[in-house]
Amino acid sequence: MICVTIGCGSHKRMIEEWQKLAEDNVKFVELRLDYLRKEPQLYRLLPNRPSAVLATVRRKSDGGNWRGSEEERIQLLRSLIAEGVEYVDLELDVAPKIPRFGKTKRVVSYHNMEETPADLDAIRNEALAKCDPDIIKIAVTPKNIGDVFRLVDFLKRANSDRSKPRTLALSMTEMGFFTRVLGKKWGCPYTYASFSSIRTIAPGLPYYKKMRDEYRYDEINADTSVFGVIGDPIQHSLSPVIHNRSYVEQGLNCVYLPFRVSKEDMFEFVDKASEVLDLKGLSVTIPHKMDIMKKLTQFDPAVETIGACNTVVVDGYNRYGYNTDYIAAVLSIETAMAGRPVRSDEASPLEGQSALVLGAGGAGKALAYGLHERGARVIIADRKIEEGERVARWLGCEFCPWDEREGYVVQVLANCTPIGMFPNVDESPMSLKSLRGGMIVFDAVYNPETTYLLRMAKEKECRVVSGVDMFVGQACFQFKLFTGKPASASFMRRVVRNALSAVHED
Ligand code: NAP
Repeated sequence: MICVTIGCGSHKRMIEEWQKLAEDNVKFVELRLDYLRKEPQLYRLLPNRPSAVLATVRRKSDGGNWRGSEEERIQLLRSLIAEGVEYVDLELDVAPKIPRFGKTKRVVSYHNMEETPADLDAIRNEALAKCDPDIIKIAVTPKNIGDVFRLVDFLKRANSDRSKPRTLALSMTEMGFFTRVLGKKWGCPYTYASFSSIRTIAPGLPYYKKMRDEYRYDEINADTSVFGVIGDPIQHSLSPVIHNRSYVEQGLNCVYLPFRVSKEDMFEFVDKASEVLDLKGLSVTIPHKMDIMKKLTQFDPAVETIGACNTVVVDGYNRYGYNTDYIAAVLSIETAMAGRPVRSDEASPLEGQSALVLGAGGAGKALAYGLHERGARVIIADRKIEEGERVARWLGCEFCPWDEREGYVVQVLANCTPIGMFPNVDESPMSLKSLRGGMIVFDAVYNPETTYLLRMAKEKECRVVSGVDMFVGQACFQFKLFTGKPASASFMRRVVRNALSAVHED
């Protein structure tokens, strides 16, 4: 069950938001009465309420907004129970002062805005469990991934005895965001989500539509397979939406999550995620594509040569690494050249062609490797001469200093720098005069889909391949590696385009 938190300054707005949620079929809300600017008027809020309610009046020390005295707060909590709200949130220290009454269920809660205490079991068993709870809630602030995993282990233990009150444990940081979604797998009775995608009330609280429609919280169970993307930052990754929507489309009991993991925490995350989270596969993004290789038990030869891995299939303690970026980009370019998909055992249209790759970073290395493997003569242009030359030598390619890139006549041009990426949409890594009709122009940038470079290339009647083609292609390969099932590229493309237009509307 998803509990949507409403926190507004006015009663009118609170009632309107509640009504909107009910119209959207939301059956359970948390009213954060501590957000009201005036004294809460229960006679306006509670009669004829559109759904079940959890009433909360949070103090500032627990992350809330209550401005009145503690006596007034306790009086308000008693009144809420007398009015028969379905659930009331009572903090550990006030719960013993407020006896059970009527049908109101008691969520006895513990919040720690500073840390994740060492003995969560003691807080639960020796304190919260003694306050006559129907549900126990523990919300903490992990400092590192070890804290988050400790919280998960605690939650599993807490809910293993079904005769005891159910426990809800969550992390109030982006790092532990996944506890809010996967809690259902480990017996949490519900999770919290926010009414608005922009206005947030508690740290790490996700938008309810995302929780319901993208993560499909209500369908998660003990058998749900867990996948995700590991990176830092990770908030804007499109991978969760593309994979999760594809699971829905194919009716798979899987969920895909963003894992914000710092460089310091990455090894510990990878070591323990299979056991703690039942993780089956990972997409890997900045800054972990190189370092993750140290944690692979086996990898595709391309991973070693490119020096980057963007996909890990996890099977217990075995971790297999792949690079789906280079396959996707090269296949998209070959398809544009041949006018149809080219099989890997066929002669490539790239054979004997020359290609200029701009940038010697992760995408540049992947493209240069793939184009070279398929028989093209590849020139890498980069502004760091020593590093660029080293990469080019290693991959069997030529190097050209950045300032000389426009002097080359090539059949394939591949931009693998972020030039032209949102918000710098009026920038291009090449001038119009360097583009010639019939050339293949590829741009790894996918936001926007049609970059300034691609717009100019179309004007010169070049054939263009976008970063969206590459992104969708790599996601299709990952989907197959993760689930064993073919993905629908056209479906994924629609999802990515919708997600990109939503980003721009925001
Ligand atoms: P990266 O590892 O940081 O490499 C970026 C490269 O671009 C570096 O060689 C960098 O040179 C160069 N560069 C950056 N700004 C430049 C500028 N103003 N002028 C000249 N060179 C510049 O990044 P990456 O992972 O390869 O990503 C590159 C782009 O590809 C990003 O826009 C990313 O979103 C996109 N990408 C797309 C996909 C997809 O699926 N479509 C996949 C991966 C990446 P320095 O080292 O000198 O800074």
